[in-house]
Order: sequence, then structure tokens, then C-alpha cells
Amino acid sequence: MKKNISQSLMKDYLKVVANPPTECGVRFEAIHIKRNYPKITGKAMLLGQYFEYLLTGAKPSYGDPIPEPEYTKTGMKKDPDKRTENDMTADWKRIHQKIPKAKQLIHDMGITIKSVGEERSRNGKRGTADICGSYKGSDCVIDIKYSGLLDNRYETFGWGAIREESYYGDVQRDFHGVQAMHYMDIFEVEKFYYLVFNSGDKWAVEMFEMSPSPRRRQMHEEQVNMVRSGINMMNVGGYPANPDFNTCYYCALKNRCKEAHLQPEPKVIELMAK
Ligand code: SF4
Repeated sequence: MKKNISQSLMKDYLKVVANPPTECGVRFEAIHIKRNYPKITGKAMLLGQYFEYLLTGAKPSYGDPIPEPEYTKTGMKKDPDKRTENDMTADWKRIHQKIPKAKQLIHDMGITIKSVGEERSRNGKRGTADICGSYKGSDCVIDIKYSGLLDNRYETFGWGAIREESYYGDVQRDFHGVQAMHYMDIFEVEKFYYLVFNSGDKWAVEMFEMSPSPRRRQMHEEQVNMVRSGINMMNVGGYPANPDFNTCYYCALKNRCKEAHLQPEPKVIELMAK
């Protein structure tokens, strides 16, 4: 397979082969290989895309449309051309309130923007950088996040434990590290930052410089090759289903998937003498 490996494909593949798996191989195949799975666009993702678009002008990746804000009932009664941000529901209106501050912050930090939304492929990897630019005298990639998990210490996507020596610290570093190492190689930069804006009411922003060791970067390249080999094997031998009622219920393939669990199946919990 010559397919370039994106960081999202890689993260999902690692969930398929985890023990126990946390993603279904059949769904993975539909999303990343056959590309016939309906777009997964939760509200948090749409808000993030909209924030990023207003902040940098970058359109969403993969040709996705620029998200349409939600309007209040009163706003919906108005002529679309006459609606303003004051007619938007709270989450969307908050973005408009934060954007001027966010733009000013990027300016004050001395971040130079050379390109936004630039897609590149290199060494069998593919990625789209929110910002390619320079910061503190070094060329870098900056990934913009608009997140409600800035303080969250117990979720993979969170940021609250990322500097801690703890189980969740490792989980968050591993998760966010994949994109960093991927993009450092693709865009040939030694600096990768996440600029994370809090999506809640409070104005809060954190910047994280991801700093992998040379050995960790080498391991990442080995992992990319492992993912490619694994996909080649699964393309021949088939993608393993990981059916579970609570996953299948929300899966777009459930009505045509032979493996779907449409009812909960008992999970055996062994109780052993100690
Ligand atoms: S319905 Fe269930 S088993 Fe089938 S693809 Fe979806 S998650 Fe996998």
C-alpha cells in the first residue's frame, strides 16, 4: 500500500489493535480505507472548525464546508442576510466574542504566519497544518485547538495532565504526541506547538511545545511503518470487527453490518479464588 498515513488514521488504527480494542476494524476500514463512512461531525468539532476559520481563515480539511452557526429561535425568524452574531446561540456567539482577543494574542506573541491550512505529504505521511510560521525565531507548526478540556485530567483528549508523571499524563502525551511528531517530519520543522483556547466562558489559553526525544521520533517512524504493514495485512485478511452494543448503536453501518450487536451481549467477568 502506498497510502500516506495521516495522524488521525494512525490514532484510529492503534485503537483497533489495542488490547482490548477501542475501535472497530470494520468501521476503521469504512472511514479511512474505503472512505464511505458518513462524516463524523459532532458539535465540538464544528465549533473548533468555525473558531479556526475565523481566527486564521483556514477552511476545514478534506473539503468539508465551513460550519454554519446555530441561531436562536428569534434569530431564525430573521432574514438570513440580517442575522448577526447576537442572533446566534451561546456557543457560537462566544466564539465571535473571543476571536478579536485571540487574534490580538497571536499578534502580541510575535507569531509570524507563513501559511494556513497547508497540506503536505512526506516520507509516507500526510498532514494539514493549521499554521506554518515562526515563533521565537524558529520555524514551526502551530496547531490550534478550541477545547473544553483544557483542565481535564482524565480523558485522552484532555490537556490537564499532559505535564504530569502519571498514567493519564502518559495517555495525553501519547495521544497529542502523534500529531506533533508526524507534522515535525512532514513540515521539516523542529518546533511544534499546540495553542489551546478554552471553549467555555472563561478566557483561558495554554501553549504546549511538544518536544520528543530523537529516540521517540524514531519510534514514531517505526510505528508509522508498523501501521502501514498492518493495513496491508488487513487489506488481504480483513479488518477485525469489534462489535459492542454501545458502539454499534451509534455506528452508521449498523443496518448493513453482519457483525453488529443490536442488543447487549453479556460480558463474562471471571471471579477467581485469591
Ligand atoms: S455496526 Fe458495530 S461491528 Fe459493525 S462496523 Fe459498526 S461498530 Fe463495527
